[in-house]
Amino acid sequence: MSDKVVTRFAPSPTGFLHIGGARTALFNWLYSKHTGGKMLLRIEDTDRGRSTDAATAAILDGLSWLGLTWDGEPVSQFERAPRHRAVAEELVRLGKAYYCYATPAELEAMRESARAKGLPPRYDGRWRDRDPSEAPAGAKGAIRIKAPADGETVVHDLVQGDVRFPNKDLDDFIILRSDGNPTYMHAVVVDDHDMGITHIIRGDDHLTNAARQMVIYRAMGWDVPAMSHIPLIHGADGAKLSKRHGALGVEAYRAMGYLPEALLNYLARLGWSHGDDEIMSIADMIAWFDIGDVNKGAARFDFAKLEALNGVHMRRMNDAELLDIFIATLPYLEGGPAIAARLDDTRKAQLLAALPGLKERAKTLVELADGAAFLFAERPLPIDEKAAALLGGGAREILRGAHVALKTISGDWTAEAAEAAIREYALAGGHKLGAVAQPLRAALTGKSTSPGVFDVLAVLGREESLARVADQID
Ligand code: GLU
Repeated sequence: MSDKVVTRFAPSPTGFLHIGGARTALFNWLYSKHTGGKMLLRIEDTDRGRSTDAATAAILDGLSWLGLTWDGEPVSQFERAPRHRAVAEELVRLGKAYYCYATPAELEAMRESARAKGLPPRYDGRWRDRDPSEAPAGAKGAIRIKAPADGETVVHDLVQGDVRFPNKDLDDFIILRSDGNPTYMHAVVVDDHDMGITHIIRGDDHLTNAARQMVIYRAMGWDVPAMSHIPLIHGADGAKLSKRHGALGVEAYRAMGYLPEALLNYLARLGWSHGDDEIMSIADMIAWFDIGDVNKGAARFDFAKLEALNGVHMRRMNDAELLDIFIATLPYLEGGPAIAARLDDTRKAQLLAALPGLKERAKTLVELADGAAFLFAERPLPIDEKAAALLGGGAREILRGAHVALKTISGDWTAEAAEAAIREYALAGGHKLGAVAQPLRAALTGKSTSPGVFDVLAVLGREESLARVADQID
């Protein structure tokens, strides 16, 4: 076996890629990148009743949006059922597993009697040592693994430390059902082995499965991959993550206007840290990530922190790059398609020019779209309530004068020229600058907040600016 690290992300396609799954994928990805290894993708579609193609597509889409790339083609677990079957039969041949012909009624009676004694439901091993010749004629048995009866199984977990499971608690579980289909427990082991997985990184809800899976590895004489069971994500209040807390599909985060890089930064910091570093680029995360540094305690998901972090990433990003992401995200944002439909080259250039001002006031792409709406508005502009208030009283008179002042700008139409003209007008008329700038902003954008009003004038250009102001004074 080579020393190269091979991780895998193994989602069950029964729903969207939720935020916990995205973090598991991220840790696998970061670890593989950090070590110069590979991350493989396996779709655990063995449960035919619950797996859908739509869910698989949503998971691939979510991973792609986040930039969590995988090596090679995704592996379908279901398609590997013949191999799972062959290994189960091999274990029978090796004397490490056996056919069990217990009937459903017998199994139910076993569970009943365990319950009555206050014990966990366990298979009592009644076929473990029987001779195959005793098999009922024509019956197709299930295959059960021979679990060790004494001692303990220790999972050497890179996150949890050594976790001990008394073997008396591991019963002879089924690896192949009587209908010939593998159980999930068995399929995972055979796949991880065949795919050459060196490191399993997954949620700690799989920790008890790890002990059972080790029984299969040992029976086959296979190396057990290094295990890392990462703590689940909880809500900000410490309770199990629910929809209200953010247990949504990653596409919901795209629609809320988060940048992939910011979401990854946030997820990476949920349960892992690198000193006091809070803001990290993807390159930083790859350079710094180590699975051994992941905390044992449950992490708490906090929307306010994610939002603040997203704002920081937006401001740090160069404008051309931010514009590209913004445009790519428009189809998913509320009101985005309408902006996309009007985004010609002129408007793209205007947007780029306005970005430095816009991103100062936006923590998400949704807020950015909202702030940029004035660029895409059709005259006469819809004026919101607060803006309407700024246009009341004597504001229209002041605006009339401002219109004249702007109209007389003779040189280039720049933010500086507009500022000089407006300042001169305010001074001459005895108005405070704000008394001119506020109604001007309202007329130009239809809102009470926007990037600096002189920048807005510059971005909109002479003709459109004057027309928008004129609309409010006629
Ligand atoms: N398919 C399992 C899940 O989505 C993951 C199994 C594993 O990582 O071993 O929870």
